[in-house]
Amino acid sequence: MIDIKQFVRHNILSLKPYSTARDEYHGEPLEVYLDANESPWDSGFNRYPDPAQKLLKLRLSEIKGLPMDHIFVGNGSDEAIDHCFRVFCEPGIDNVVSIAPTYGMYKVAAAINNVEFRECALGGDNFAFSVEKLLAMSDAHTKLIFVCSPNNPTGGSLGRGEIIKLLKAFHGIVVVDEAYIDFSSEKSLSSELVNYPNLIVLQTLSKAWGMASLRLGLALACPEIIRIFGQVKYPYNINSLAQQTVLSRLSIDISKQIEIVVHERDMLYDYLSKSPKIIKVYPSDSNFLLVRVPRPRELYNQLIAGGIIVRDRSGVVGCEGCLRITVGTPEQNVRLMEIMR
Ligand SMILES: *Cc1c(COP(=O)(O)O)cnc(C)c1O
Repeated sequence: MIDIKQFVRHNILSLKPYSTARDEYHGEPLEVYLDANESPWDSGFNRYPDPAQKLLKLRLSEIKGLPMDHIFVGNGSDEAIDHCFRVFCEPGIDNVVSIAPTYGMYKVAAAINNVEFRECALGGDNFAFSVEKLLAMSDAHTKLIFVCSPNNPTGGSLGRGEIIKLLKAFHGIVVVDEAYIDFSSEKSLSSELVNYPNLIVLQTLSKAWGMASLRLGLALACPEIIRIFGQVKYPYNINSLAQQTVLSRLSIDISKQIEIVVHERDMLYDYLSKSPKIIKVYPSDSNFLLVRVPRPRELYNQLIAGGIIVRDRSGVVGCEGCLRITVGTPEQNVRLMEIMR
């Protein structure tokens, strides 16, 4: 087994993390809390939240089929993305390799952390993924490889086998963003965490789980990485309202909603593929479709006039002429199809 400590920045390895009042006392709950300079009057909000998010992680652990020490929860996936840079990349020295086009946040987080961001173009007209090309762009200072599968904005999966090839071949950390995994026909790479300590899987409650406004992102990784992320995060990164609300909503069965979205996506794929307004619809393993059209701005405005907002991705390199359309409710999709007719 490789030791992931070799990839961690020295200042992070020697970090003495902040210890909260709640970290210091580990006994049973008592009647009087005079340890955290909180207000003594119960407002429902006067106490600091659990910095370790134990109840929430316990439930997530059941849902994800992973021990609690393999789970980090952050203020959206964005927090976990930032921790990847802060923990592993020495600013001005290390670099990161990723694919293009992909989710824009990796590049922004790299820039904020002063880390060089190398983009490996997905190939040809079908956004083909090449592990060899990705590895060829890496060097001794490449600490992270960021991939996204199913990929945003292209919609397709990169292939489990290919990502495992990458995990085997790359001497560094491989981050796999699985924000759309719940809509995918491929299963999560989180089952590979036991085999690859250099794997970080990012997931989110913002898409299939319908909790975008609550801001809850997950990093699934080996206990060593989770422990370090826990030291780097803000002590109270998830507020008590979010912890409680997410916990209660995790008992809702979302499988039917996912089934509908997947069915509607495949139906829209067929419908849009036949539309004379559209050059190409890309195969999707997610809850959106990327479509290439002759005049994207014209179609975008036509949809706006019909009361529908989609994402114009035509300015993104590799996505020339493309709009990204999220799958809506069956009624919303009918409305979309009427405008596309
Ligand atoms: C939507 C999305 C996320 C979710 O980010 P949150 O901060 O958890 O809301 C993460 N990655 C990708 C690729 C996404 O498209």
